[in-house]
Amino acid sequence: MCDYRALAMASARGLTPYQPGKPISELERELGQSDIVKLASNENPLGPGAAALAAMRDALAEVALYPDGNGFELKQAIARKFGVELNRITLGNGSNDVLDLIARAYLGPGREAVFSEYAFAVYPIATQSVGATAKVARAVDYGHDLAAMRALIGEHTRVVFIANPNNPTGTWLKRDELRAFIADVPREVLVVVDEAYVEYVDEVEYASALDWVGEFPNLVVTRTFSKAYALAGLRVGFAVSDPAVADMLNRVRQPFNVNLVAMAAAVAAIDDESHLARSAALNREGMAQLTAGFAERGLGFIPSVGNFVCVDVARPAAPVFDALLREGVIVRPVGAYGMPNHLRVSIGLPAQNARLLTALDMVL
Ligand SMILES: *Cc1c(COP(=O)(O)O)cnc(C)c1O
Repeated sequence: MCDYRALAMASARGLTPYQPGKPISELERELGQSDIVKLASNENPLGPGAAALAAMRDALAEVALYPDGNGFELKQAIARKFGVELNRITLGNGSNDVLDLIARAYLGPGREAVFSEYAFAVYPIATQSVGATAKVARAVDYGHDLAAMRALIGEHTRVVFIANPNNPTGTWLKRDELRAFIADVPREVLVVVDEAYVEYVDEVEYASALDWVGEFPNLVVTRTFSKAYALAGLRVGFAVSDPAVADMLNRVRQPFNVNLVAMAAAVAAIDDESHLARSAALNREGMAQLTAGFAERGLGFIPSVGNFVCVDVARPAAPVFDALLREGVIVRPVGAYGMPNHLRVSIGLPAQNARLLTALDMVL
């Protein structure tokens, strides 16, 4: 018999699979109960807005047709909303897809990607799956240490991944430090600034890097419709970059990588400012509720500007995670990130946040 693991590329054999949040349906089957609360994948607890839902329903009638492989309407909407040229945009099946496209176009054996300890788990997967080498910079207080990252950039480095804010830590970089870093990086190294949670950030010293893409040809900014726009299940995200970079990313992508329903929903969601504002406001309240609850219980947490927060349960978190599951609450263990005593909790509706706090009381 053949060993089909041994036959795979070394780059595939060396991968550690991404561990997604446990699906509600799976825990329902295991517990035989239905009132499960999932605060595990940084999803928007409000769900999509009415305009996006209506657009999805209308789009269903067209799904016998292939989607527009160039994504013209969605690119138009993105270009209009963010003031960028169409030829700078690359659409992805989620922004995860765009991160993979960057790896496929710019990384491979003999090349290196730099990112931080505790950075988003997709960066090592994207890097290793194309046979490139990951250079991981030590974090400071769970946040990205840009000087340490800069020091790891060498002649074989082609990509730096920065999540701002970062998942799972919720830490963020100030405008001036990020800008100075990008200006300092050699132009043959792409700086990928992943802004999956930008819509939630409410800090005066924070700035999106989107306004700088015209200035720095090696800057790539990624955004997603999965988080604040509440379309995680549809899978749609995008990158804004130099047109030459976008050209390369568009060459390696599948011709129809973003589906028709997803594009229709994203076009409708992008202009639904009131739904975005409601989502951000709900998140602020929920963050205050949860962090106050943690503090009351004497639990530390990493200050977060995202729609999630890492709580320090001051003991191995894996058994706490399991016990919370038995209470019907799904959170996210982050031991695989090297954070064995933390759990990442997504901000939910007020009643869901309260359920988590009550379940913590039962468990701890
Ligand atoms: C959730 C997340 C993404 C987005 O993933 P999608 O593929 O767009 O759903 C990207 N980066 C970070 C840091 C995230 O947490």
